[in-house]
Amino acid sequence: MTVMPISQTIARIRAEVCDLHAHLTRWGLVTWTAGNVSARVPGEDLMVIKPSGVEYDSLTPEAMVVCDLDGALVEGEHSPSSDTASHAYVYRHMPEVNGVVHTHSPYATAWAALGEPIPCAITAMADEFGGDIPIGPFALIGSDDIGRGIVETLRGSRSPAVLMRQHGPFTIGPTAKAAVKAAVMCEDVARTMHLARQLGPIDRLPTTAVDRLFDRYQNVYGQHLTEGRNPMEGQQ
Ligand SMILES: [Zn+2]
Repeated sequence: MTVMPISQTIARIRAEVCDLHAHLTRWGLVTWTAGNVSARVPGEDLMVIKPSGVEYDSLTPEAMVVCDLDGALVEGEHSPSSDTASHAYVYRHMPEVNGVVHTHSPYATAWAALGEPIPCAITAMADEFGGDIPIGPFALIGSDDIGRGIVETLRGSRSPAVLMRQHGPFTIGPTAKAAVKAAVMCEDVARTMHLARQLGPIDRLPTTAVDRLFDRYQNVYGQHLTEGRNPMEGQQ
């Protein structure tokens, strides 16, 4: 087996992280320069993340920033996203996580503003999130508080998404693409459950149904059995 030099690996991840940001605008999850995607560099204490304050149309692979897992700049012409410390905290404490996404997508952030979990009342939520999308603590930027809140809420949870109270969603995944998908699906179900609540009271799905749906979707549905377990791909 040939081992790819670290510079080539970082170049590949810069391109991947850059491309994934297009989903945030495509699905209406971000406004102006808000929001960010990061990916862990496999086998290294490094991550690639969006630069701070650069508009989405101006993002290029070269503009992405490489940081260590303390959030310090390692390589890049821009300063890293202001959320870098929160992403880094997640990578330090959740070794199974290889991608982190943060947005202020409007419907998910509306639930965060209320401090209410999104109730799991539709099969699509059971599939993707295995239950409610939980609320994390209120935390100010500038310390480890946001990262700690993400980790403490999601560790042991089946949900790849947390709504940080009065802030917005953070999502995680075994790949950066999976974390982006979780951010897209989080906003989708946040909108649907908002609409449902305008029509009347919400009935959560029974736990047994949620468990069966989650298990089937995660283990049987689609291409998971072939794609998700191919260690060479790193994509879901
Ligand atoms: Zn934010």
